[in-house]
Amino acid sequence: MSDAGRSEAGSGSVFHGLRTEGLEALLGSAPAGAELEFENTLRPQRFDEFVGQRQTLENLRVAISAAKARKDTPDHVLLSGPPGLGKTSLAKLIAIELGTTLHSTTGPALERARDLVGILTQLKRGDVLFIDEIHRVPAAVEEYLYSAMEDYAVDLTLDQGPNARVLPLKLERFVLVGATTREGLLSAPFRGRFGLLERLSPYPTEDLIAILERSARILAVAISPSAARTVAERSRGTPRIANRFLRRVRDLVQVCGAARAEPAHAIEALRRMGVDEFGLEDTDRRILAVLARNLTRPVGLKTLAAAIGEAEDTVEEVFEPHLLRCGFLERTSRGRLITAEGCAAIGVDAASLRPEGESAT
Ligand code: ADP
Repeated sequence: MSDAGRSEAGSGSVFHGLRTEGLEALLGSAPAGAELEFENTLRPQRFDEFVGQRQTLENLRVAISAAKARKDTPDHVLLSGPPGLGKTSLAKLIAIELGTTLHSTTGPALERARDLVGILTQLKRGDVLFIDEIHRVPAAVEEYLYSAMEDYAVDLTLDQGPNARVLPLKLERFVLVGATTREGLLSAPFRGRFGLLERLSPYPTEDLIAILERSARILAVAISPSAARTVAERSRGTPRIANRFLRRVRDLVQVCGAARAEPAHAIEALRRMGVDEFGLEDTDRRILAVLARNLTRPVGLKTLAAAIGEAEDTVEEVFEPHLLRCGFLERTSRGRLITAEGCAAIGVDAASLRPEGESAT
């Protein structure tokens, strides 16, 4: 089969989603190798194991059971939201619920139309094609997806120049599940071809506690309720981060020979990862420090990204949302500003930096 995709039974064999380095690199490398194996052991295997995002789950359940009753396939699904919120897990659950096979690939892996057609022609009726980072599908390949999604057919062009021939291919009815961290980058015609558009949002602490408790049971780690809360509160609303933290807490508990994880273990394990009580890590603190140096002068995204040596996208999509949610950073039309709470979070006395006569943000 093409290098662009991998398939697996929806009933739960190990998932081999292809991933590239990128925004997922938050707090460690993008999940690959052992990290991906670890994630797979924790992935929900049934809809009722998937915690939170109730409206999205409900919409998917309804779409799937209605399609099953009609002996048809559900509409194509677009899942958007920051990394680590459960988009891949949901794609897998859709295939499990449909009792079909999940085929996974990523936008950047679909370099040529041939890569896509190679996958499409393998799909059986009702199979799920999961395209992660779908906003990175090249424009030329996107065109092929249009007819595949709408008419379940593609015209493959063979050869070039005078020898070029068009081979029309019929496809089985399949379900496309696209995942994106940048919904705004999808063209309107592309977005319009998805019947279900679901936006995942960061999880409240209580949901993260439920996720951690489930993960702890699977990993056979004893964790006290207050330790689970400590980890949840520092996990930036993100299950992937919560699970990664839990792994480190488990290691520390094991090394300490303790019977179960208590808040002190959680705090110490996270401190060793450079994570503070607000869930801020080094890059967050560097962002706040740059803003604190410009206390009342809004800093543009470009300048901020250059100052901390990160891509603008990464600052905007990975770091800023959490800082905004914590109320440590403000976005204005002229740029970013640190708030008084942001100053306090990095131990800066705003009053001592603020020029005379200027008010606090
Ligand atoms: P995404 O595709 O959005 O980056 P994933 O689906 O890969 O996120 O989820 C990352 C990890 O977090 C997985 O190990 C998964 O088990 C866990 N996870 C995500 N959302 C949930 C949830 N709602 N309930 C339980 N576990 C979750």
